[in-house]
Amino acid sequence: MSDLRDLYQELILDHQKNPRNFGELPDANHHANGFNPLCGDKISLDFNTDENGLIHDIRFHGSGCAISKASASMMTMALKGKTIPEADALFQVFHHLVLGNLVTEEQIEHLGRLKVFQGIRDYPSRVKCASLPWHTFKAALNHNSKTITTDSDNDSVN
Ligand code: ZN
Repeated sequence: MSDLRDLYQELILDHQKNPRNFGELPDANHHANGFNPLCGDKISLDFNTDENGLIHDIRFHGSGCAISKASASMMTMALKGKTIPEADALFQVFHHLVLGNLVTEEQIEHLGRLKVFQGIRDYPSRVKCASLPWHTFKAALNHNSKTITTDSDNDSVN
């Protein structure tokens, strides 16, 4: 567990300083904004899908704490090249993981580097920072044009 914690610190710092897929995507066919009022994190997410339904390109921008930024950065890396059902499955597993719900070892392995976020369940106030980018992704997927916030009942998976 301490190895995972070191890796977590390292990845959070790395992605905060040097976020991947940061910026706007002018030709995006999916877009949403997310806001976490508890921390003040704001994220704008753009992505587009190709003719095969794969997430072809995905970018985010906004301002927020290290955790929200690192989570968004790592999420975009994980989702790029995935189909929508694959992306949705990752969302479900990630969400269960940060909430501390039971997930199998196999599911955790499937998350790859995102599994470092499993330690966050010990810090309930930061769970929403980590899950904000994912909720924003879901909103973009569902073409939800109003800004989603983590204030509502977003913590229930549906
Ligand atoms: Zn935050």
